[in-house]
Amino acid sequence: MARVAFIGLGNMGGGMAANLAKAGHEVRAFDLSEVALAKAEGNGCARAADAGAAVQNADAVVTMLPAGKHVTDVFRSSVFGQAPTGAILIDCSTIDVETARIVEQEAVAAGYTMVDAPVSGGIAAAEGGTLTFMVGGSPEGFERAQPFLDQMGKAVIHAGEAGAGQAAKICNNMLLGATMIATCEAFALAQKLGLDLQTFYDISSKASGQSWSMTSYCPVPGVGPQTPADRDYQGGFATALMLKDLRLAMEAAKSVDAYTPMGGEAEELYTRFADRGGAGLDFSAIIKMIDDSWSPPAEGNRQS
Ligand code: NAD
Repeated sequence: MARVAFIGLGNMGGGMAANLAKAGHEVRAFDLSEVALAKAEGNGCARAADAGAAVQNADAVVTMLPAGKHVTDVFRSSVFGQAPTGAILIDCSTIDVETARIVEQEAVAAGYTMVDAPVSGGIAAAEGGTLTFMVGGSPEGFERAQPFLDQMGKAVIHAGEAGAGQAAKICNNMLLGATMIATCEAFALAQKLGLDLQTFYDISSKASGQSWSMTSYCPVPGVGPQTPADRDYQGGFATALMLKDLRLAMEAAKSVDAYTPMGGEAEELYTRFADRGGAGLDFSAIIKMIDDSWSPPAEGNRQS
């Protein structure tokens, strides 16, 4: 079993660190939040006084932080030169591709092996150890990170060189944002055209309009499998996080001169929805904005 430093014990990192401790690793955890630290201690992690203390003698360093600037700060101030160069560095945060590449270059220059390993899956998947990891880095980095990621996820995929994990994550989420909006539009139009929504679901989920947004995450309450729509759009994947990922995608698109009109439109619509108070709701709640006259279908329409 290994000594693992875990920095960033929030909604996602808390569950991930707990799973590494459960797998038998000696997890030394740090977060700026006292509440997060106490929770990690309760889940079998040892509390470190600061990030620098957490990484002393570590075999692996895992970070799960809000954004690129936090990742840069933590690695520059507390990891490089403080963790042993034999430690594998694994950043699981969702950050911009450029920052991921810069931090990884700095890691290599300081003698480390580092990978970017952002995740797909929310808080429940972090707690349940069923995340999907998309990993960017050298084949050697991937091989060394994989055993740790396996203990926090159900799938670990090597996406390519440094930054490729972040690139895969934002391309996937740009597609998700756009298909969710398109799915909401289709349901809103179907309703206005007098179609029964369950019937439309039954048809479209088996026809060419099918997508994950429709069949696994249907935005309409009472139709399809249980989703956040059935809990008044509480929990799930918050609009604010979808918006963060869409902004990262648009930034990346600009940097390589890619034409992404649907992604741009999705970013605009999610910005509008967040500004109207939707930031804390699940991202499928955008159906409320797309059809202001939206009313849930009658009870009894559910398909399990
Ligand atoms: P969060 O805000 O709940 O957790 C981040 C934690 O980092 C906080 O506890 C904060 O105190 C800590 N932190 C910030 N700066 C720090 C520092 N300098 N040193 C130590 N700790 C510091 O966020 P989250 O929801 O856990 O998300 C983490 C990352 O995972 C983000 O990049 C997010 O985009 C990504 N993500 C989140 C979800 C989700 O459903 N929440 C899903 C996929 C990916």
